[in-house]
Amino acid sequence: MAKSLYETLGVSKTATPDELKKAYRKLVREVHPDRNPGNEERFKEVQSAYDVLSDPEKRKQYDTVGSTNGRFGGAPGGTTFDFGEFDLGDIFGGLFNRGRGPQQQSRGQRGNDVEVEVRASFEDALRGAEVTVPVQLDLACHTCHGTGAAPGTAPVVCPQCAGTGVVATSQGLFALQQPCPRCHGMGSIVETPCPTCHGAGRERRTKRFKVRIPAGAKDGTRIKLRGKGEAGFGGASAGDLYVVVRVEPSKIYERRGDDLIVQVPVAYPTAALGGSVEVPTPEGAVSLKVPAGTEDGKLLRIKGRGATRLKGSGKGDVLARIRIEVPKKVSKKQRELLEELGKTG
Ligand code: ZN
Repeated sequence: MAKSLYETLGVSKTATPDELKKAYRKLVREVHPDRNPGNEERFKEVQSAYDVLSDPEKRKQYDTVGSTNGRFGGAPGGTTFDFGEFDLGDIFGGLFNRGRGPQQQSRGQRGNDVEVEVRASFEDALRGAEVTVPVQLDLACHTCHGTGAAPGTAPVVCPQCAGTGVVATSQGLFALQQPCPRCHGMGSIVETPCPTCHGAGRERRTKRFKVRIPAGAKDGTRIKLRGKGEAGFGGASAGDLYVVVRVEPSKIYERRGDDLIVQVPVAYPTAALGGSVEVPTPEGAVSLKVPAGTEDGKLLRIKGRGATRLKGSGKGDVLARIRIEVPKKVSKKQRELLEELGKTG
């Protein structure tokens, strides 16, 4: 079993940012390759764990996915995640930027993935619906189109690293590559900053996306909009946008997978002697045959009337849970009949 990132840093899952920082600093002192040659692996592990957990967005994503997989960017492996997701294979590739070491921290870094929630009524989720979702995003600045340079100017190659984004420093026996301090690893610098974004190349804007909620969506179904997340850094691609559907509960149905459970009151004589009852389904009421001798709580299946399957084809079933009604008031005649029944039972 791979260690969780929290275990790597020796903190609890509820650690505050301060506790994280303290644990990280202490560990880095212990395992830094300068002091402890041969410990590079452990050092990298600590670095990447802190990389993810110190970023609130990434930490949230990590907590949500609950990865037990110490490496990011890898295949999900044997772990299964069942929150009714689309495009599962992409989730891992997308959520975390390939196990990035300290060297590639900022140069050409892919934009962040963003997750938003959208509410849907139970009925809309069953039928499918198109919704407009406003999302606040860091996007390429509209003035400089993301370069950070004032209109009419362009970023120039960083003179200190000659555009490589890294500089080599020698520390004892080790030649370490570090992000260039002049351009912060970008390889280029802006001489005349854009007046809108002050050279950052980014601005926060609200964008509206039309999103199709697929018929049969469950609470927690994720819809992926590739490349609709935050802008990348240094010309790298944008992150992805994940829209998580939050489905309101139904007054009538309880969802179980793709099946819908509905409570159906049945009069005692019908349950005892057999008969038929009306059962609501999303596409209208259906007459259901109740076999003689049906007990309270029994589930009767109406095939193919449930929710549209997100994976595979067709629909789930409606499951009618039989509730035998006990009359609250009885007439004189009914009382006589029931008393008679009691004697024969
Ligand atoms: Zn700008």
